[in-house]
Amino acid sequence: MSCPCRAIDESRRIITGRYAALRICKASNGIQAGRNARRCSLMQQHPDLPEAFAELGVEVRFLKALVKLNFVKPSDIQLAMIPHALEGKDILGQARTGTGKTAAFGLPILQNIDPDGRLQAICLVPTRELAVQVTAELTRLSQCTDLHIVAVYGGQKVATQLHQLGRKPHFVVGTPGRVMDFMQRGVLNLQSLKFAVLDEVDRMLDIGFREDIRNILGRIHGDHQTIFVSATIEGEIRRLARRYMTDPMELDVSKDQMTVDAIDQSYVTAEPRDKYRLLRLILKQEQPPICIVFCNTKAVARKITKKLHADDINAMEIHGDLAQNQRDRVMASFRNHKIDVLVATDLAARGIDVSEISHIINYDIPQDPEVYVHRIGRTARMGAKGVAITFVGNDQGKELTTIEILINEQVRHREVEGFKASEPWQPPAEQAAAQQAAEAPAKPAPKLTLASKFKTRRRRRL
Ligand code: ADP
Ligand code: MG
Repeated sequence: MSCPCRAIDESRRIITGRYAALRICKASNGIQAGRNARRCSLMQQHPDLPEAFAELGVEVRFLKALVKLNFVKPSDIQLAMIPHALEGKDILGQARTGTGKTAAFGLPILQNIDPDGRLQAICLVPTRELAVQVTAELTRLSQCTDLHIVAVYGGQKVATQLHQLGRKPHFVVGTPGRVMDFMQRGVLNLQSLKFAVLDEVDRMLDIGFREDIRNILGRIHGDHQTIFVSATIEGEIRRLARRYMTDPMELDVSKDQMTVDAIDQSYVTAEPRDKYRLLRLILKQEQPPICIVFCNTKAVARKITKKLHADDINAMEIHGDLAQNQRDRVMASFRNHKIDVLVATDLAARGIDVSEISHIINYDIPQDPEVYVHRIGRTARMGAKGVAITFVGNDQGKELTTIEILINEQVRHREVEGFKASEPWQPPAEQAAAQQAAEAPAKPAPKLTLASKFKTRRRRRL
C-alpha cells in the first residue's frame, strides 16, 4: 500500500516542524493496518502497556520496560523516528536536547537485533561519560530481553573491557579512540554489523573525530542501517553525514526552535574581573538545587572550583585533566545529587542527562554557538524547567548575537541585584579615540541587514 506521507519523503526527503512527527506517525500507521489490528488485540491482553508506543510498532518485550521506566507517551522525535527506523531506513535525526533521542534510535535497533546473533550494532559517542550513559539507557530499555550491551571507552582498564567484549555483546557503545584500539587488536570485528549510530553527529564528524569515524564506519561491509542524531546539524556536517548513508530520510523536529521553551535564558554583562563575584551573588540569590557552571578552559574551571571551596560551597570540577576514575567519581556524585555545583569544561556539554539540573551558568560565553545549545540543554530535560544565565563581556556582543541568530531567539538581559559591572578597561590611546568619536558629528545611519541589526541592538544593550 502506498503511504501519503511517502510522497513527501521521496520528493523532499526532509520532514520538518513540530507537527511533522504526528504526520509521519499517522501515515506510518496507515501503512500498517495489519499491525494496528494486532495492536488492538495486544492492548486488550495488556491494558497497562503504553499504547502510544505500541502504535509505533514497539513490541511487548520493550513496552514492559517502558512501563518500568515510566515512559507513557513518545516524544516528537520518537514519534517521527521509531516507525521508519523499524523499517530499516537510514535516518538523520535532529531534535532538541533532552527530548529522548537515545530511545528514538535505541528502541527500533534493539528490537531488530537478532538475540541469537553476535555483535550487530555500534553507537559512537564523543565522550566517555556519554558512552556510559547511553549504555545504561539502552540496558534499561532492553531489561526484559536477553540483549547484552557493552561500553568501551578510554581511561578504563583495557582488560576489563576486553573481558566484557568476550561476553559477546549484541550492541557496543564507544568512543572512537577505544573502538579503533580494539579493532586493531582484532577483538572488535565490525564487518558484519547491521546497525551503526553516531550520537551527537555534528561533534563526531567535526575535524577532531572525522578521520576515526571514516576508519570505523569504513570497516562495516555489507548492508547496514545508519542512524545519526543531534540537536544541532548544520550545512557542511549534513552534507558529510549523507555520504555515509543510503538515501537517508531527514527528520527534523527542532527546526522552528533549537532550544526548549522551558529554559529561561538570560545574560548578564560582566567583565572578567567581575565574574566570580557575580557567580557568588547568583548562587546566593537563586540557591539553585543543582547547577553546572561552564568554563571555556580547564584552568578557569580549576580556579573557580578552588574559590568556591574557599567560600564553603559544595562544588566539584570535571575536565580532561582528571583521570578517568576521578571523572567517574565526580559524575556519580553529581548524578546522586551529592554536589551542588559542577564546574565543567565542554566535556560535560554534550548529551549528559542528569535529572533536575536547575541552572546552567555560562561563566565564559562559548566560542561556538552550537556549544551554547548543548550546554543549556543539560537543563529542562523532558518537560522540566530550567534557568540558563550567560556572562557576557562588553566586547562579546558579537558572540551573543551569533548565538541568538542560531537559536532564532533573543536572550534577555538580566539585572542581578547588588551587582554593578566595572567599566570596560581601555588603554589610554583608545580612550582618547573613543572620546573623539563621541564628540564627532553623527553620520547618517547605514542600511540594516539582519545581522547588522542584531549587532546594533547588542551594542546598545551592552
Ligand atoms: P537527548 O539525547 O535527546 O538529549 P535523552 O535520550 O538523553 O535525550 O533522554 C533524556 C531523558 O528523558 C532520559 O532520562 C530518558 O530516560 C528520558 N526519556 C526519553 N524518552 C522518554 C519518554 N518518552 N517519556 C519519559 N521519559 C523519557
Ligand atoms: Mg543524547
